[in-house]
Amino acid sequence: MRQIDLHVHTTASDGTFSPAEVVELANKNHLAAIAITDHDCIAGVDEAVLTGTRLGVEVISGAELSCSYDGRKEIHILGLFIDPHDISLTSRLTELKEIRDQRNERIAERFHEIGIPVSMDELKAMYPDAVITRAHFASYLYAKGLAKSVKEVFDRYLNDNGPCYVPREKLNPKDTIRLIHNAGGLAILAHPVRYHMGNDTLAECVRNLTRLGLDGLEALYSTYTASEESQIRRLAKENHLVISGGSDFHGNNKPFIALGKGTGHLSIPYDILDNLKSHLKMGRL
Ligand code: AMP
Ligand code: MN
Ligand code: MN
Ligand code: MN
Repeated sequence: MRQIDLHVHTTASDGTFSPAEVVELANKNHLAAIAITDHDCIAGVDEAVLTGTRLGVEVISGAELSCSYDGRKEIHILGLFIDPHDISLTSRLTELKEIRDQRNERIAERFHEIGIPVSMDELKAMYPDAVITRAHFASYLYAKGLAKSVKEVFDRYLNDNGPCYVPREKLNPKDTIRLIHNAGGLAILAHPVRYHMGNDTLAECVRNLTRLGLDGLEALYSTYTASEESQIRRLAKENHLVISGGSDFHGNNKPFIALGKGTGHLSIPYDILDNLKSHLKMGRL
C-alpha cells in the first residue's frame, strides 16, 4: 500500500533537513507523497517540488499557520495545496516574519538585561534559512553551554511568564482560513489533541472553526493513541470534515519522530490524499 506524510518541517522553519533532503528521505522511505508544512513559511516548497519532480515523489505545497483561538490559546492550521506564490499569502507571511524579527531583537535585549549574552548575528548564522523562534533561542543557549537543556531555557526564561518572553502578534482563525482558501488550499486543524482543551471545548472549537470554513482535521498523527484517533475521526464525521494525516517530522529536532512512520506505528494510506483532492475539487465547482 502506498503511504504518505502530510505534515513535514524543513530547515525553512524548525526542521533539520533541507527541503531537498526531506524529499530524498521520503524517496528512500518509499513514500508516495509528502506535504511540506513549515511554520508560517512557504519558502521551502519550491525546492521540495523540484526535487520531488526529479525523484518521482509527489510534493504537496503547504504551510502550518499559527493563530490564536479565543484570543489566547495558540492553535495551528495547516494549509494544504496552497499556491506558494499567492500574493496575499506571501505578503502576510512576510509581514509576520518582520513582526517576528522585531520581537526576536526584543527577546535578545531581555537576555542581555539579565546578563546572558545572546548575539542575534550568531543566532542567525547558526540557522541561516530558518524563521527564528523561541525554540532557536533555546537551542542556541544550549549549544553555547549557557543552559543544560532546551527545556531549562523554556522553564527559566522563555515560557509565557518567563523573564525573556515577549508576546507576538498572531493571526486569527478567520483570517488564517481565508488566506488559505484564497491561495487555493484546504484548511486543516493540525493535531487537535495536542491543545489539551478537554473534549467539550475541543468539540466547540471544531464547530466554531467549521463555521469559519475549516475543511478538515488531522486525524492521523505521530503521538495519537487509538482512542484519540477515533475521537478526531468522530469529530470530523460530526462536522462533515475531511481527515488528513502526518508525522510532524522535524528531523533531529524531534529525533523520536520518523518521516511517514512517526514513533513507529503511524501509517497513512494514499487514500487520505485522494480524498483531500476530491474535497478540493468539490470546493472549486
Ligand atoms: P514562538 O513561535 O517563537 O513563540 O516559539 C514556538 C516554538 O517554541 C515552537 O517550536 C515550540 O515547539 C517551542 N516551544 C514552546 N514552548 C516550549 C517548551 N516549553 N519547551 C520546548 N519547546 C517549546
Ligand atoms: Mn515545530
Ligand atoms: Mn504544530
Ligand atoms: Mn508541525
